[in-house]
Amino acid sequence: MSIFESPSLEKFINIPANAREILRKPEKRITINIGVWFDSKKLTVCEGYIVYHNTVRGPAKGGIRIAADVTLEETMDLAERMTLKTALTGIPFGGGKSGICLDNKNLTPYEKKEIIKEYVHLIRNELTSGNYIPAPDIGTGPREMAIIYGELHIPECVTGKPISIGGLPGRKEATGYGVAMSAIHAYNKYFKKDIKDVKVAVQGFGNVGSWAAGFLFERGAKIVAVSDFYSGIYNKEGLDIKKLNEYLKEKGKVEGFPVADKISNEELLCLSDIEILIPAAVERVINEKTAPKIKAKLIVEGANGPTTPDGDKILDEKGIIVVPDILANSGGVIGSYIEWKSSKSGSITPVSEVYKSISDLIIHSFERVSDLAQKEKLTNRNASLVLATQEVINAMNERGWI
Ligand code: GLU
Repeated sequence: MSIFESPSLEKFINIPANAREILRKPEKRITINIGVWFDSKKLTVCEGYIVYHNTVRGPAKGGIRIAADVTLEETMDLAERMTLKTALTGIPFGGGKSGICLDNKNLTPYEKKEIIKEYVHLIRNELTSGNYIPAPDIGTGPREMAIIYGELHIPECVTGKPISIGGLPGRKEATGYGVAMSAIHAYNKYFKKDIKDVKVAVQGFGNVGSWAAGFLFERGAKIVAVSDFYSGIYNKEGLDIKKLNEYLKEKGKVEGFPVADKISNEELLCLSDIEILIPAAVERVINEKTAPKIKAKLIVEGANGPTTPDGDKILDEKGIIVVPDILANSGGVIGSYIEWKSSKSGSITPVSEVYKSISDLIIHSFERVSDLAQKEKLTNRNASLVLATQEVINAMNERGWI
């Protein structure tokens, strides 16, 4: 169900009926059927979706996800979150997303290349017009963005490119950096303490979780647990994230890392000695089953949609503070915006400036969210939704949409 159809949203924001009619459904849904020959013996066919949720504030922006459980509904939900994320941070983009339904774990880089080339072939006009600007998401990275660039030769048509072909220094780690900055700032604000020695657990050690853990580790936090798709590891004294990254490069999974106990993904979520929990893997992991068992005081959402509405209610009743996804993980799209601007103008942006822009913009949005939350007695999630929705409604008014 669309966030804009949720009855609870009505309690704290007055959305004009015309705006709700538009926002409750995506503007555009494209379904593609991708057929590729990975070798000469068998044709592989998979379905893909390109969703524009709303483009009133700018072109549809959002990553390409390749995963076995991708659905049109999930892609619609993720596109909607992009509309809200870009509006909350004031970036002049709309919300979009692509999903390709194929198990990314078994794909070779060559196979991914074939899929991406075919994907570009099928939606070339959406891309060359600049109406939809893709970026990495689960199952894709700089290499896949480089392939898109290679097919189009228009630098601003895709973000998250490798630096060697006009990508942005700092874009790769931008989401994780923003998550770490959100955690540091929120912990400081709500608990009046520095992040040093604070115990943190990170679920998901992919491009978001591993960088978030790395930046927090650098600043002295104790990352006591991390997990990947397969399982988790725990050490109450804290894990050496630099060594863990090296281990991961060699072994491909966190399991077996020396001086750590094996734990399950659910055990990680419910650890009793952590102060901050960072879900940075997939959707819906904090739900009516897991939320009652969560002991962390602060949750910083690195993933998109890691908490269900039921889970959210329980966290609120327990007094657990949440920095919601559309705020906490906005570093990625902020980085994308800087890359897009640089690609359009041909300028080069130094990494220090990228980090500073991400941190300034996230802290600024965070302050607006927490001020409103305090004033109106809302959760941070609802305050974020109010601010983002108001931005979108304002733009709709200015453009004569409603
Ligand atoms: N996939 C990322 C997200 O969910 C980045 C999107 C982008 O930069 O367009 O925020």
